Formats: sequence, structure tokens, C-alpha cells
Amino acid sequence: MKILVINCGSSSLKYQLINMEDETCLAQGLIERIGSEGSVLTQKVQGREKYIVKQIMQDHKDAIKLVLSTLIDGTNGVIKSVDEISAVGHRVVHGGEYYSKSVLIDEKVMKALEDCSKLAPLHNPPNIIGINSCKALMPSTPMVAVFDTAFHQNMPEHAYIYALPYELYEEHKIRKYGFHGTSHKYVSQVAAEMISKDIKDLKIISCHLGNGASIAAIKGGKSIDTSMGFTPLAGLAMGTRSGDIDPSIITFLMEELSLSSEELADLLNKKSGVLGISGISSDFRDLWDVAKNNKRAQLALDVFHYEVKKFICSYAGALGGVDCIIFTAGVGENSAKAREACCTGLEFLGVKIDSEKNNVAGIAAEISTSDSTVKVFVIPTNEELMIARDTKEVVSL
Ligand code: ADP
Repeated sequence: MKILVINCGSSSLKYQLINMEDETCLAQGLIERIGSEGSVLTQKVQGREKYIVKQIMQDHKDAIKLVLSTLIDGTNGVIKSVDEISAVGHRVVHGGEYYSKSVLIDEKVMKALEDCSKLAPLHNPPNIIGINSCKALMPSTPMVAVFDTAFHQNMPEHAYIYALPYELYEEHKIRKYGFHGTSHKYVSQVAAEMISKDIKDLKIISCHLGNGASIAAIKGGKSIDTSMGFTPLAGLAMGTRSGDIDPSIITFLMEELSLSSEELADLLNKKSGVLGISGISSDFRDLWDVAKNNKRAQLALDVFHYEVKKFICSYAGALGGVDCIIFTAGVGENSAKAREACCTGLEFLGVKIDSEKNNVAGIAAEISTSDSTVKVFVIPTNEELMIARDTKEVVSL
């Protein structure tokens, strides 16, 4: 069985074709600048040169058409016919309160996705366009929606209700949803496999530290709390996002600087985080490069590591202990220094990092000492594979 995984952004599209017999990626690609000049597809197939197609793509339907023709291309493709694709798994950012697991897409699901667009105005509309474009081009292929929010839908009420008037939850669905669910679910399953334990018996803290960053507390394979909230702006300070701040700062800025809601959203989403503190970059590598001689770059890193540490401690409390801590995504997978900084001072929890073992990047590894009571792992995330697994499960039902 071959499954196509599609992740549609507003002007970009990522895809992978996965062979489910051995879970290998047959081809992966990225289309950028859909709808504007210079739209381009880049496809990678293991053992081959990158294949680049520069072609005008007016919309996502054009983009998906090109994905399919590239996959079946006689020279650069990997399959003979589109009929070899058994199902398509779509990454969908927001499933609201409708979905706690992946679902076969039908008219009712499309309506629910439209409904959730209010909650994720930047993300759900391109996801919906991607699904509609695929349906138009592959009308008899089953499509599955896999939600970033679904894994967190089992959080207990006391974790997801904000201390606001309850009517705001009832009437406007204002609550914590959490994101990066596909990634947290994937790495927690891999961690359980790595220590040959049933995930049902484990208390796991998963740290997805990339440009966007979130931490999840996972008990018995279920998310019981997570740092992102109503939107992916909450929680940790990130590359450009503020994370949690005192909400009064918003009204203060509106009054003192006469900022509009659009300007505020821009400030909090794009000009804050480690970029805002450092004034240098949102890229953690750039900050490490200059931190020795640049106080604000060091401060930005210190704030980030301190917040990660605080979330780990609060989730250890929420879980009533912790068996494993996982680091994943760009920073978590690649930066030994960041992992060390996040874990220093957690010895009281039973966390001991082995600096030699920690000297790894981009591979799955245990990095704690043999006498550390909490096992600490680096696990590269693979959201596409998780989407493909879910898709296979849903269409096989
Ligand atoms: P997203 O998917 O949220 O855009 P990624 O998971 O790709 O983000 O992570 C991107 C971040 O990872 C960048 O800020 C980059 O600086 C950081 N990163 C990648 N490699 C390293 C490294 N070796 N050291 C520190 N940070 C790194």
C-alpha cells in the first residue's frame, strides 16, 4: 500500500509518498510560491539528484497536478500510475472539538473543517483547498484528515479550560486545544519502543523544540496537558512568537502605543520570541554563534531554556512523576547544547545527561546516564509517517 501525505500551507505544499509495506519514503517534495511568480517544485528521491521543476502554478490544484505528474514521470518519478496511490493523508491543523482522532473525509468532515477555520484562519483554509484539489484530481481515492489538535483532545477539562467567563467556552469555543499533536504522538510511541515498554505504563514529557515549540505531558499514551493553547502562540518563547505573556500587556500596548489588533498579532507572532529578545535572529544557530559576545543573544537562549525547564517541572508534577523526557524538532534533534541547558538543574527529578551520549544530532538516541532514573531521548520527529500510519489505519477499517 502506498500513501501520499499532503501538507498544504498558504503558498506552499509539502508531500511524501510512503510505501507502507516497509514504511519507507519513496519520494518527498516541496512546492513553493504557489500563486506567485517563480513557483517551483523540488523532489528528492533517495539515491538520486534533486529534481527541480520551475513552472507557473496558479493555485493548489495546479500544484497537486504537478505533484502527481512528477510522481509518475517516466524518468524522475517513482510509480507508474496514480492508481498505485491507495489513499491520501492530509495534515489539518485544527479539528476543534470535533475530532480526537484521524477521520475519513466526507461532506460532513468538510463542513466541520470549514467551521474550524474561525479558530485557525491562517492554517485551515489552505488545508481545505488542498483536500478539495486532491478530491478533484483523484475522485475515487480515499482521503483522510489527520489533525494537529486531535492528540490533545483527551486532555482533562481542568487542563483545557481558561479562567475566563465560561460562556466564552460555550459560545465561542475558547479553550486550550494544543498543537504539534502528530509529532508528540509519534515520538512518544518511538520512546516506548526504544525502552521496550508498553506506552500505557509510561509518563512522558515530549519537548518539540523547533521554530515553533511546544511541550506535552503524556500519560499512558494520552496527552494530559500541553504548552500551546487556543492558538500556537501560547506556551514557550519561540523563534518569533512570544509564548505566554501577561495578558494585560496587550491592552497596555493598545492604549500606550495605539497598536491595532493586526499590529499586535504581528508583534506577538512575528517580532517576539528569541528574535524579539536578541534583536538578531529567530534562528537558534545564529544566536549560539554570537552568544559569547552578545548579551541579548545569550539572554534569549537563557529565557528559552529556562522556560523549557519550567514546563518540564510543571508537567512532572501534572503527571505525578516522569519516566522519559524526549527532545525533538530542529533544536531538540540537533542542539546538544540546548538539551544540556534545558536539563541542567533537573538532577533533583532524577535527570542526568551523559555529555558523550548527548553529542548526537538528527538520530534517535538515549542521552541519559545509566543511573539516571528518568530516561532522556533525542528522537527525530516524523509527522509524515505518523499521518501515513493513521491514514492506513482509517482506510483499513
Ligand atoms: P519549524 O518546523 O517549526 O519551522 P524546525 O523543527 O525545522 O522548525 O526547527 C527549526 C529551528 O531549529 C531553527 O531555529 C534552527 O535554528 C534550529 N536548529 C537546527 N539545527 C540546529 C542546531 N544544530 N543547533 C541549534 N539550533 C538548530
